[in-house]
Amino acid sequence: MSDLTEKKARLTMSLRAQAILSSPVLSAIESIPREIFIEPALKQHAYENASLPIACEQTISQPYIVAKMTEALELTNRYTVLEIGTGSGYQASILSLLARRVYSMERHRPLFVEARNRLAELKLTNVTLRLGDGFSGWPEAAPFDRIIITCQVDKVPDALIQNLKPDGVLIAPIGPPGKEFLTKLIKKGDVIHTEQLISVRFVPMIPGIENA
Ligand code: SAH
Repeated sequence: MSDLTEKKARLTMSLRAQAILSSPVLSAIESIPREIFIEPALKQHAYENASLPIACEQTISQPYIVAKMTEALELTNRYTVLEIGTGSGYQASILSLLARRVYSMERHRPLFVEARNRLAELKLTNVTLRLGDGFSGWPEAAPFDRIIITCQVDKVPDALIQNLKPDGVLIAPIGPPGKEFLTKLIKKGDVIHTEQLISVRFVPMIPGIENA
């Protein structure tokens, strides 16, 4: 077994030990090569259960958090999912194996371009990426069965609540910066049910687009 394959097997074992019990989620994590989403110098760390730096001062989330958020979405292969914060494209790739179609938005052009190249390399053709501001949502592709926000928000932007189907689920790190909780929202008519899952740290959601 290669060094990375062995590290990957150890990572999925540790995710199981941390109560990630969904086999489809664990299989998706085993299928997607995380090493291609990070810079070559960090390749040896690809299967550590840690967040890592990517371009534009952003981060690729810790595998445990990716697994936890994906599991909380309760995906089926009939669902359409919107992700806010493409970053490296890793989370979008995991989602693409578990949902029918994935839409993902990123505000930094270099990250958007790199993520698009990686998804093409992996031949994940059910993912559509857009350079855009997640605060506006994606009305042309809405409504979505599921929405995942992978940056910290004080509250969920109204446009994203509007983009969610009735009975749809949205997962996001919600709270003041440094005090956010992974939160599950379920849209029941005009009422939004919320459930706090775990304490987490994410880079903030920032309005507008960075073209450089
Ligand atoms: N899901 C990513 C990690 C995301 S880090 C992965 O798997 O690698 C959070 C990302 O959200 C960053 O890339 C950041 O640029 C992006 N972001 C922040 N504010 C945003 C906004 N308003 N619209 C879209 N993306 C945003």
